Amino acid sequence: MPPTPTFRLQEEAWRLRAACRGRDVNLWFAAWRGQEEEGGAPHLLQGRLICIECPVWRDCAEYALRSHTKDGIWGGMNERQRRDWRRAGKPNTMPAMERRKRSAS
Ligand code: SF4
Repeated sequence: MPPTPTFRLQEEAWRLRAACRGRDVNLWFAAWRGQEEEGGAPHLLQGRLICIECPVWRDCAEYALRSHTKDGIWGGMNERQRRDWRRAGKPNTMPAMERRKRSAS
C-alpha cells in the first residue's frame, strides 16, 4: 500500500528544519558529474559549510541513501561519501565535520 500523504509528510518533516531551506539549491548540485568530489567547485564548498551547521544532516543523508539519489550533496556528502558513511555504520559526524575539527586543532 502506498504511504498516505500524512505519513509522507511526517516522514519528511525534517525538511522543515533544514539549514538549506529557502537557499539557492545550486549550492548543492554540481554542473557536471565528478565535480562533487572534494574541492571540485567553490559553490559546492559553500553548500557543504551550510550542511555542517544543519540540525537534520543525518535525515538528509538517510533520505538520499534510501531514495538512491546519486546527484547532489546531501547530508554534507557526495554520493561516494554517503556510501562510505553507511559502510562505516553511519557515525555521528559527517566527513566535512571531521576535517573541520582537524584543521581547527
Ligand atoms: S544537510 Fe545540507 S543539504 Fe541536507 S538538509 Fe541540511 S543543509 Fe540541506
